[in-house]
Amino acid sequence: MRRIGGLALLLALAACRSGGGVEDAPDVPAPQPGVDVQRIEAVLSFDPETMTLVGRATLTIAHPDTVGRVWLGLSGAMEVGTVEVGRQPVAAEREGAALAVPVSGVTSVVTLAYRGVPDVGVYREETPSGLVVWTDGWPTRAAGWLPAVHHPSDPLVLDLTLEVPRRWDVVASGTPAGETVENDSRRARFVTSESAPTYTLAWAVADFAFTDQSGSVSIRHVTLAQDSASVAFLSRTPALLDTLAAFLGPLPYGRFATVEVPLVYAGMENAAAPFFQTELYDAPAALEEVVIHEAVHQWWGNDVTPADWRDLWLAEGPATYLTAETVRRLDGLEAFRQSLVQMALLDRRSAARRLVPARLADPEDALTATPYQKGGAVLHLLRLTLGDEVFFRALRQTLRTYDDRPLSTAAFQSELEEVSGRDLDAFFQRWVYGTGVPTLRTRWDRATGTLSWEIESGWGLERVGAELLVRQSGATDQYVPLDDGVASLPGDENPEVFPVGWLAEVR
Ligand SMILES: [Zn+2]
Repeated sequence: MRRIGGLALLLALAACRSGGGVEDAPDVPAPQPGVDVQRIEAVLSFDPETMTLVGRATLTIAHPDTVGRVWLGLSGAMEVGTVEVGRQPVAAEREGAALAVPVSGVTSVVTLAYRGVPDVGVYREETPSGLVVWTDGWPTRAAGWLPAVHHPSDPLVLDLTLEVPRRWDVVASGTPAGETVENDSRRARFVTSESAPTYTLAWAVADFAFTDQSGSVSIRHVTLAQDSASVAFLSRTPALLDTLAAFLGPLPYGRFATVEVPLVYAGMENAAAPFFQTELYDAPAALEEVVIHEAVHQWWGNDVTPADWRDLWLAEGPATYLTAETVRRLDGLEAFRQSLVQMALLDRRSAARRLVPARLADPEDALTATPYQKGGAVLHLLRLTLGDEVFFRALRQTLRTYDDRPLSTAAFQSELEEVSGRDLDAFFQRWVYGTGVPTLRTRWDRATGTLSWEIESGWGLERVGAELLVRQSGATDQYVPLDDGVASLPGDENPEVFPVGWLAEVR
């Protein structure tokens, strides 16, 4: 997810949701050890005018034979009709957004019929292009329309058929798998070719404009009619997907669509079809940056999922950092350095906070600048520490090993250690599980035009090739090695000093 578009606005990442009026996420049951919802086939009939949803979902669930019942999350606003396990009706228990289904053996096929007007996770807005209805699953809001285990540790394959009145267009996560129009209704089917966490499963209904683009994978841009000309801003999508595939491996889900909806934040990494907020469609640079961010999530967050909400940095750190890396490969070193400087500019509290929170009462509390910008900065320092070849090999190995599986921070550390042959415990204790940032002391001697500095030792920043940006009004920006400790500057003005992609408190 990207909350706000544009590098210049990164500082404001920690701000509250800008749209307001967003209801609390449903209090869904916690995941049960060993319970794995593997696949859901859902058929939803939906009327955008009345917001009425009639659903039937068939879940294939693996579970320990001792579990007795599985707990699913589905908003209490959905009235549940018959519940069957292996085609036998069963009595399910409900309490709020929790639904307990009795099961036996080690695999169950659970079918639920439900209907109602969703009270969460499904949104509607009148736009100049007409009514738009879209879903947003973060973090547990997909429970508004889909019964499942709504936790990143339980990604699943969704085979979704949406039935709407024929005048509406439909887009959804996954790959289009056929669309039929019969009488007054349109039925469109989408299948995620690999599993994805439920917060990335989404659909939207509107009168859309579709633009296909050729590339190594199937690419489709879906906009509101008012913004169809803005598709021109997305012309580099094939190039940026190829760039990412070159260092991360093939694009998961094998298809990429961009979908414009009136989101309250910049972008949401819905599987194979991320959603982008309307405001970005007149801000080309910001739109492309958010597209790259959500594209990175197809690998980091969707295909490899965080094991827990506390591990969110394993999705947002790569999304932030590898956006900068993609910019480097597309636009060169200067653009990369500027992205890194912006990434490392964050408020003191967010910089100092543990990257993996010790406790997290509510997953929405995880959405601070910390997993994004500190996560990105820690990855940059890992890259500097391990070297490019080892760092990117470790990323690829992690993606292969944890394909369709949850990745914990401890497991990520193990992958990095295995590939590099190094003990990274001290690094992780300091930067991931620890608090604070090192101090960078600077001294400006106007008489000699000399800037000198010293970085606090013990943070692993020496002799790794870290850089400083030195900015003096009227002079060209200078990038200098942190290890130099001193630089001669041309002007008289007090210089400003910025770490290039790493964290420090500059004094
Ligand atoms: Zn993100």
